[in-house]
Amino acid sequence: MSFGDGVMQQMLGDEAYGELYEVRQGRAPLTAALADMVAAKMLEWAVGRGATHFCHWFMPLNGLTSEKHDAFIGRSDGKPILEFSGKNLLKGESDASSFPSGGLRAMFEARGYTAWDCTSPAYVWEGSLYIPTVFCSYNGEALDQKTPLLRSMRALDAAGTRFLRAMGDKSAGGVYPNVGAEQEYFLVDVNRYNARADLKLTGKTLIGKLPPKGQELADHYYGTLKKRVSDFMRDLDAELWRLGVYAKTRHNEAAPAQHELAPLYSPANIAADHNYLTMTVMKRIAQNHGLVCLLHEKPFSGVNGSGKHNNWSLSTDTGVNLLEPGKDVKNNLMFLLTLTAAVSAVDKHTGLLRMAVANAGNDCRLGAGEAPPAIISIYIGDELAGILEEIRSGNGKAARTKSLNLGVAALPEMAVDNSDRNRTSPLAFTGNKFEFRMVGAGAALGSANTVLNSIAAAELDEYAAALEKDNSKEAVYALIREKLNAHGRVLFNGNSYSDEWKQEAKRRGLPDLSGTAEAVEVLRDNAATEVLVRMGTYSQAEIDSRYQIMTDTYVQTVKIEAATLVDILRRQIAPAAVKHLGKLTEIYNSAVATKLILNLNAIRNDIGELTDNLSVLAREATALNALLVELKSKKSAAFVRDAILPAMAVARRAADNLERIIPKDKYPMPSYEDILYF
Ligand code: ADP
Ligand code: MG
Repeated sequence: MSFGDGVMQQMLGDEAYGELYEVRQGRAPLTAALADMVAAKMLEWAVGRGATHFCHWFMPLNGLTSEKHDAFIGRSDGKPILEFSGKNLLKGESDASSFPSGGLRAMFEARGYTAWDCTSPAYVWEGSLYIPTVFCSYNGEALDQKTPLLRSMRALDAAGTRFLRAMGDKSAGGVYPNVGAEQEYFLVDVNRYNARADLKLTGKTLIGKLPPKGQELADHYYGTLKKRVSDFMRDLDAELWRLGVYAKTRHNEAAPAQHELAPLYSPANIAADHNYLTMTVMKRIAQNHGLVCLLHEKPFSGVNGSGKHNNWSLSTDTGVNLLEPGKDVKNNLMFLLTLTAAVSAVDKHTGLLRMAVANAGNDCRLGAGEAPPAIISIYIGDELAGILEEIRSGNGKAARTKSLNLGVAALPEMAVDNSDRNRTSPLAFTGNKFEFRMVGAGAALGSANTVLNSIAAAELDEYAAALEKDNSKEAVYALIREKLNAHGRVLFNGNSYSDEWKQEAKRRGLPDLSGTAEAVEVLRDNAATEVLVRMGTYSQAEIDSRYQIMTDTYVQTVKIEAATLVDILRRQIAPAAVKHLGKLTEIYNSAVATKLILNLNAIRNDIGELTDNLSVLAREATALNALLVELKSKKSAAFVRDAILPAMAVARRAADNLERIIPKDKYPMPSYEDILYF
């Protein structure tokens, strides 16, 4: 159901396909004639696959996908005809004022445009032809994540090609990033989900005591799939394959009810589109199984959250992975330079990377000892660290590749990878790619990869300028030495979860932007964002708008959570607690009157705990309401962090204490146990 390369080649014929290929590479303009020709073929192809409608599929800055469907229907001589022109394919116009623009558009300046992104394949799903598009304002400012991502890939292509030329490579015609995103998610039963207002309104639970059993036994990770889950996964893979998304890996994750899917990697722009599609399809297929798919970064407090490990590498258009160390690492100058460029790029721009993954959900996950900390560092493993150190100081010890012998002749001897796994690192070099682990499960891939591509482009450009003067081995080693001396502080092979690392990172001067409120401020720091403007990925106005949108989204997200929490506390938890209190008091009084029970301590204790926690709950609910009123005028991320979130935490503790006392059949919603172990 994907209008991918194979289909296009077959349907368009060699000449038109070749023309479109040049357009996709950015080497030729998209003509009206070509668009008409492609549209006609797309129509024929889509109708043959049951499509009656088409839509421009775009990604506004609310983080979701948008679509408005138009039928292929037209009228000719009073009769219905099928109609879809090059114009329909190329451009759409919509009211942009209801989408976030961060000040780029005023309410009365409503026009927004969608434009066909021919670099990403169209597909047919549920009777509609989905056409990937970019979304921009009347003045041409990007109102989506895709446009900056495409621009960053263009910058990387130019800088990467310059770098290759400087190193004497004449064969490759371009460089692009490959991305494979491992998507974590939870599956919960739809009836239990529907019985929880917090899950329905905010995507996460706002209260809930931990069940007696958590992840202690490590029995869920890679565990046997439950029948219902494996049925879901099979349907999901089949649907994704139909849509041209090459789902590859599926397994249970660490937390109960948590799972993961990883696709084959693809060029970053397609990976980003396909990840949106994967999230959409996951939710849809879950419905068919009486399940709900949760993509929130932290649906359950005290239980592992969900991320989206973003595997990133650089490839030439001739298929060479520049991050492939090969056998003779020390003499693989292209690899050593690319690796070092990644290191210096990240060290210069840790703030931007941190900003790119910041959102309210991810704040609950990063640095909680289950996901990377908020401090950005790079893990490269002992072997590579040894080699780099050897180049840098002349006396590093390059650990050599080992092979494992398991002591049983029938078992194969295995060469082990040149880096171990270090799951605590935010950015780990894993064989021939970097794994950026900070991206949130529900976040789009665009913003993180736009930053990765832009900073890599800026760095490769700088390296190229040096190498154009001298690309001898000595000069390359000297360049690597210089860069490692200046930026090696970002390398850390130890335990990133530890407190010692926090101290050490501080000593090294690495920033610790602990939450969204701190991370968004990077966008107001011109020295930090300058690289994005220089690489042409964002205009200054677009950066300002992103600041506005990220702040608004953060504030609104927590506002909704706080309001939902107040509602649940007042209308569900407090009444249940009061009822139980009444019941206990009744028993207590009658026991006293009848002198039936002599030792009433247990009942008295429960009554005490109920009243204590009820009063905290009432106090915090009232306080939160007042804070929410104040937030209307403040709208500041710092106020959310300093006032609202702490009040929510206190209220939550009281509610969770009450859950420990209120009888299960009298508690007004499913517990963590009910949801996680369905
Ligand atoms: P892990 O063992 O880390 O959980 P997975 O197999 O779940 O790894 O996922 C690894 C992801 O990395 C896949 O999406 C895979 O396609 C992707 N990947 C592999 N090689 C590269 C590469 N060179 N560049 C980008 N992504 C890659
Ligand atoms: Mg994985």
